[in-house]
Amino acid sequence: MQDTLTKKIFDVDEVRRDFPILNREIEGKPLVYLDNAATSQKPVSVIDAISDYYSRYNANIHRGVYSISMEASAAYENARINVKEFINAASEKEIIFTRGTTEAINLAAYSYGFRNVQEGSEVIVSELEHHANIVPWQVLCLNKNAALKVVPVNEKGELDIEEYKKLLSDKTAIVAVSHISNSLGTVNPVKEIVKIAKAKNPKIAVLIDGAQAIHHTRVDVRDIGADFYAFSGHKMYGPMGIGVLYGRESLLEAMPPYQTGGDMISRVSFEGTTYNELPMKFEAGTPNVEGAVGLNAAIEYIKSIGFDAIEEQERMLLKHATEEILNIEDVRIIGTSENKASVLSFVVNGLNALDIGIMLDTHGVAVRTGQHCTEPLMDKLCLPGTVRASFAFYNTKEEVDIFIKALKKTIAILK
Ligand code: PMP
Repeated sequence: MQDTLTKKIFDVDEVRRDFPILNREIEGKPLVYLDNAATSQKPVSVIDAISDYYSRYNANIHRGVYSISMEASAAYENARINVKEFINAASEKEIIFTRGTTEAINLAAYSYGFRNVQEGSEVIVSELEHHANIVPWQVLCLNKNAALKVVPVNEKGELDIEEYKKLLSDKTAIVAVSHISNSLGTVNPVKEIVKIAKAKNPKIAVLIDGAQAIHHTRVDVRDIGADFYAFSGHKMYGPMGIGVLYGRESLLEAMPPYQTGGDMISRVSFEGTTYNELPMKFEAGTPNVEGAVGLNAAIEYIKSIGFDAIEEQERMLLKHATEEILNIEDVRIIGTSENKASVLSFVVNGLNALDIGIMLDTHGVAVRTGQHCTEPLMDKLCLPGTVRASFAFYNTKEEVDIFIKALKKTIAILK
């Protein structure tokens, strides 16, 4: 679907002009934004779409009989259709708008999990999960007296699939793993993970945390075969405060509401309430219309660039940065899987990651330092944290060089 709209030739300078923030200077130096795994920057088309919504047709949706309310409702529902097509879901009923990945996973854990996990059941996560894909399952297991099982990672930062197979049992109710690790960049074999679970027992529900994948690679939820797939708008060049839970329709139909209130009901009386149909059953209250409008524009933007160009540029940046950083003494890359997204996590012997991050900022270079919301992974790796540079397609080879030069200077000063 994206291919039909792929841009002619990828020109990074032209693309950068779409992102006003990339012109920022930090203390007289150009901003080199390498924290894309935390959040991405926004193209002017996304910013304009949000501004246009508030300037021309801001109104509450689904209830108004007047023109601008109907326009806002149509924009919100069109965004849902666009998301459905973008991830190749079977129906727009399977697209639930949430605040982001965190809320999407919580929705699945509280609604599906509380109904389907019993005392003695098992839920499987992995060692490289973000806290957002650990804590909701941990809370569920605590409430239900169920057990949380954890797939280990090997020294390269890859999931141990043989151990995963051993963990699956007749008690397994849910498997929840990330598509791409935010800390290490490892791309997990999600299709295989789903297949293995379903071969063990087709009733095992599999949730994929796609927060770090949705903007790097084509995601086809039907091809992956997962029951749930969660992601955030802000990681994919869209606004904050909007995200998606994709859920298989048959599962969503059977699930109880996660939050209750307006819009998610069909009829309310003091004797009882009946719920609205999908997807509204899971969208209580006034939704984030501005977010959906911005997300829609972000999808259009990604389609206009095309995943072939995105992946090629990001692969080039990761390769170049990896080669350059390996030339620096005392640097150790953390996460060395063959199959990595454009995330470069590293430590420098004898130096504190936070100090490195603060010093890099004085060169205009924005990186993330610390545990990256993956404390159990850092514990496993016996690290207090890493420095993480994460690249987007709008980053350039020259920016990687600025980063490497700044890192060398930083190490020279701090050592
Ligand atoms: N999972 C992963 C893998 C992530 O990288 C993130 C964001 N860092 C999340 C979940 C949570 O996303 P959000 O904060 O947008 O809800």
